[in-house]
Amino acid sequence: MLDDHLQPDHDDLEQSEHPADDVPDSPAHADVDRQAPRAGFVAIVGKPNVGKSTLLNTILGVKVAPITSKPQTTRRGVRGIYSADQRQLVFVDTPGYHRGGTRLSGAMNQAVRESVIDVEAVLWMVDLRRPPNDEDRDVARLLRGLDPDLRGWLIGNKLDAAKYPEEAIGLYRDLAPQAERVLSLSALNDPDDVYALRDDLLDLLPESPFYFPDDVRSDQPREVWAAELVRESVMTHLRQELPYAVAVVIDEWRDPPEGSDEPLYLHAEIWVEKQGHRPIVLGRGGAMIKAIGRSARKQLELFLQQQVYLDLEVVVRRAWRDDRDALRELGYEA
Ligand code: GDP
Ligand code: MG
Repeated sequence: MLDDHLQPDHDDLEQSEHPADDVPDSPAHADVDRQAPRAGFVAIVGKPNVGKSTLLNTILGVKVAPITSKPQTTRRGVRGIYSADQRQLVFVDTPGYHRGGTRLSGAMNQAVRESVIDVEAVLWMVDLRRPPNDEDRDVARLLRGLDPDLRGWLIGNKLDAAKYPEEAIGLYRDLAPQAERVLSLSALNDPDDVYALRDDLLDLLPESPFYFPDDVRSDQPREVWAAELVRESVMTHLRQELPYAVAVVIDEWRDPPEGSDEPLYLHAEIWVEKQGHRPIVLGRGGAMIKAIGRSARKQLELFLQQQVYLDLEVVVRRAWRDDRDALRELGYEA
């Protein structure tokens, strides 16, 4: 269904002498055509919770990747797409670089590596409130292993909350001697700095047709997007009690018949790893699952601009993080 959206569709391109699929490849045209489209990819890497999704959301002006105050809520390479004035930046918001030996973390690390192929720049985001730890050093090692010609920028985030930002950025810079630029900002509280960064990224784009229609801001299938909203609600409600062994799959999406006032029906499975986790997610008398469902439904309705009936089911799926089939269902190349 999403494929329809991703078909080239250049009707909306403004005042272009050259539609996006008809870029002149001769340099002789370059000065004639200041309006030729430019497009490219930018990867955002960094350990969980440093503010990658926040940066992306500020750049795009919409909520694309789920944010919670807990790490690892972004499990797959969600792309955000920024299109304006014949420029298109496609962001790869990588899954958090993850330590540990399960198959899931292997799949995530692979996804990080794949997300930095063919990009105009890699942004390494770090948290200026703290000095580098082992996770940051892992990311730095990964970055040093990439093509040395790849443009890397080090972004120190949470400047608003950092006590020793200069010292911190210095320590991170030592881990990334190859970084072409080093900047400090607050993705959450200083949108102007973020817009300036976005404009600098736009300047890097090579001439290229758009990769996506200019009204698409994410290439996630709607089921994946909705599942992440539900998962975000689970994580927010359960806090410490059930760390990361939760996955959500939307296995039914039933649009109401045209013109009816029935709600959209969604059925979501919430996977937990142990029988003992079920009652935690359900809560006493079902209070927890109701609260999870209520806030997820509100978010869904807000974004979809229609009434939603959200049906949640808690399913025990043992060791799904080490189960190839399960990971494939969640969208990983396992
Ligand atoms: P990600 O895991 O790297 O995608 O991180 P998120 O974007 O989900 O952010 C993790 C947490 O850090 C959230 O609670 C954000 O609100 C918070 N955060 C992000 N950017 C900033 C910032 O510039 N300053 C402060 N104080 N908090 C931030
Ligand atoms: Mg994130």
